[in-house]
Parts: sequence; structure tokens; C-alpha cells
Amino acid sequence: MDPTQTTLIGLRDAIAARKVSATETVKAYLHRIDRYNPPINAYHEVYDDLALKRAADVDAGNIKGPLAGVPIAAKDNMCTSYGRTTCSSRMLENFRAPYDCTAVKKLEDAGAIILGKTILDEFAMGSSTENSAFGPTRNPWDRDRVPGGSSGGSAAALAADLCAGSLGSDTGGSIRQPAALCGLVGLKPTYGRVSRYGLVAFASSLDQIGPFTRTVADSALLLQVMSGHDPLDSTSADIPVPDYVGELNQPLTGVRIGLAKQYLSDANDPVVAKAIDDAVAAFKKRGATIVEVDLPHTQYGIPTYYIVATAEASSNLARYDGVRYGHRTEHPEDLIDLYSRSRAEGFGPEVKRRIMLGTYVLSSGYYDAYYLRALKVRRLIKGDFDKAFEKCDAVLCPTTTGPAFRFGEKTDNPLEMYLNDVYTVNANLAGIPGVSVPGGFATVNGTKLPIGLQLLGKVFDESRLLRLAAVIEAEAGCSAQRPKL
Ligand code: GLN
Repeated sequence: MDPTQTTLIGLRDAIAARKVSATETVKAYLHRIDRYNPPINAYHEVYDDLALKRAADVDAGNIKGPLAGVPIAAKDNMCTSYGRTTCSSRMLENFRAPYDCTAVKKLEDAGAIILGKTILDEFAMGSSTENSAFGPTRNPWDRDRVPGGSSGGSAAALAADLCAGSLGSDTGGSIRQPAALCGLVGLKPTYGRVSRYGLVAFASSLDQIGPFTRTVADSALLLQVMSGHDPLDSTSADIPVPDYVGELNQPLTGVRIGLAKQYLSDANDPVVAKAIDDAVAAFKKRGATIVEVDLPHTQYGIPTYYIVATAEASSNLARYDGVRYGHRTEHPEDLIDLYSRSRAEGFGPEVKRRIMLGTYVLSSGYYDAYYLRALKVRRLIKGDFDKAFEKCDAVLCPTTTGPAFRFGEKTDNPLEMYLNDVYTVNANLAGIPGVSVPGGFATVNGTKLPIGLQLLGKVFDESRLLRLAAVIEAEAGCSAQRPKL
């Protein structure tokens, strides 16, 4: 068998049954990485030797677990005690973390093999990976197009079969949007479901780690392994982790699917609109009730998100001062000069824009008008969902308005780039889980481009969300499709 052309669970089972060894598996992936990473630029760093050594340990029976031998890619804003953790920023170009990110560690404890770290928009700020200091990642479905962002490298690595699953972080859509644009399942768990320890902070009240997979079942497995309380992250929830994998097979009865007009705008590509219709039909066929819900504050999501996220970013990124770690300028005249030149040289333009916006909205005189007001609107957005979930179990909506856009299409106008997140940011503001599932393909100039459908659910209701996602997966039937490289 070719270990690079299956699902994560399929590969896991094949390794466990010794149909293929972990060493053969890792070698096959490294071979593909050699061939396809240069044109796609998904990985920033690959850990050949470490991965082969762990594979040998799996084959010798020294490493066991539900992910034994499965090669995974991690976004390069997750600290690992090996290799570098750069956040795709010049600021951290040579940074070596002294500890491991809990989510990554949990995968490793379950036997997974981390193949490498993937490209992102610098510090996870962006929707296309065009803000990476190490070059953009290309979409494996069409190399002239973006893979989405900020976790574009993790999405492209999986779409191109350069790993069997990958990790992203989602502050305003950075798992769901690239999953949609690369034809994958991308899950943002409930805030607090997965530990953020060792994830380089962008906006701490919004950030959450989650998996990219080919299938919903694979997503359930990775979530299962990653979830749970972590004494090292006080915002991780101390509530039991359900059996996501086992519960996937439970029947769905009495399901109510919510549709909100705020997400079904004319701006949606016709292919997206049709995919929603098909999903609605699929749910009805399985006995679900479709209810209309109102999310009246949806339109305030983007401005609210870009105030809250930049405010938190300006505070979180204050630590990169050239003193303790990260880039330090040469021959500073004094301490202020050291700070300002280190930061001017280390950060890229989008990161600087966010820091300035965030510092502005937090500054005396503007705090009440912007930051405080945004917090109030955030509460209203959360209230919209609370009300909607009295009437339905999940809201069905698009992940993005259409398929992947071209490089450069939105870089001249930051606002247009920000608007790309209209359907994803509200889940982060409300803290609720969201999953993007492949919903079909748009054909643009003869090229097939994936689109995604999104399901938003109640807090800690990932189990049901995954079962609902499986309905779309079965109906759309595109999870087995791969781009021609
Ligand atoms: N695209 C959004 C932003 O630029 C979301 C990023 C993310 O989720 N990390 O902030």
C-alpha cells in the first residue's frame, strides 16, 4: 500500500496491522516532501532524522498509542523543544523553544510523529499566508492561488499528502478557512477544549488549536487525543472529554439545523449556495428539522474581531523587545533605540499594522470608544448564538463566500483581506466550536477548486457537531478527492 494515499485512521490501522511499517511510512512522506514541498512551500522545517528515529521506535514496539507511527505536521507557532519555532517571522527566525506545546506533546504521547513545522501568516495574522516572512504557501489545487490562512502551510501540507494530518490554530478562522480552500476538514474546538500552552499567543481570548484532516472521523480522533484540562493553561476547561470517535456512530435523532439569513447573502458563490441547499436536503432526508434563526449582530463581527484581536495582539507582542529573545538590532544607541529598531526590523508590515491598531484602541481616550464597546458587542454576538441554540443544535453556513483567491488579489487592501473572515470570526468571539467540511468544487477556468461548508455548535458540543459534519461529508462525497500535483 502507499501510506501517503489513505486516511489518517486508515494509515494508523495499517501500521498497527503491520501492513506497512512506520519507517516505510515516514520515508514515503519524506520522499513526497522532497519532491513537492519546494513548489508548494508548506513546510518551513522538516525533521527527517527525528522522524525516522521515532518511526524506528514505533516499529520496535517502544512507542505505542492510538496514533502510533502517524506522521503529523504542526503549525510553526507551536513550540517544540526540537527545531525552531518561528511564527513565520524574522523576529523569531532563530528561536528555539525550551518546551513543548501541550497539544503537540499529547499527539506525540499517543505515538504520532511530527514531520515538521508549517508556514503561516506571520504570528497567525492573515488569511492567505502572504504575510509569511518565509514566502507564501501555494494551494495544491491551483498554485496560482492562496491556500488560505493563517494556517495555510498545515492545510496545504495535508492537501498535498505531505503528512497524514496537521495542526492549525484558529483565532478568527485560521483553521476553517484554509480547510475550506484546500478541501479538508478543519475543526476549531470550543475555547478551552484544547490547551493553548506552548501556542505562541496572538489573541489569547480567541486562540484555539485544532486539527486538519481528510475525514470527519480523523478529526474526531485528533480532537480526542488533544483535548482535556492542562494545569499549564488556566483557560483550558476541566470537564471530561467525550468519546468523540465512538460517538460518531451514534444515530442522529431529532436534529434541528439552523439557517441564518445573515450567512446566506447574495455575495456567496453559486456553488457555495448550492452546497448549502444540498446539505439542507441531506439533513432533511435524515429526518432533521430545518429552522430559521436570527443572528442580528453578525455584521458587527468583523469590526469587533479586529478591535479585540488587535488589542490583545498589541499586548501579547510587547514581549518581543530585542532583550530576552528573538531578533536584536545591532549597535543600538540606547535602550529605546534597541526596542524600536529590533521591532522595526523584526516585524513585517501586517504585524506592525495590528500592533498600531491594537495600541490605538486601548489607548487612553479611545479605550471606551473602541475596546470597551467591542467587548459589549462581543457579548451581544454571543447572545445571538445562545438564543439561536435554544431553537437549533447547530447553524449551517458557508465557511467562505467562495473558493481560493489569487495571490495579490487582496494584498493591496487590508480591509478586503479582513472581510474574508466574515463567516468565521463570530465563532471565536462567542467561544463556540466550528467545523468546516468539504462541500463541493467550483470550476474556475477549468480548474477544480474546493469550497467548504461550516457548522457552528454549542459550547463543548463537538461530538454532535462532528456527527452532523459526517452527514455533509457523506452527501458531498469529496473527502477522497485529491489535487493532481
Ligand atoms: N484571518 C484572521 C486574521 O487575520 C484570522 C487569523 C487567525 O485565525 N489566526 O486575524
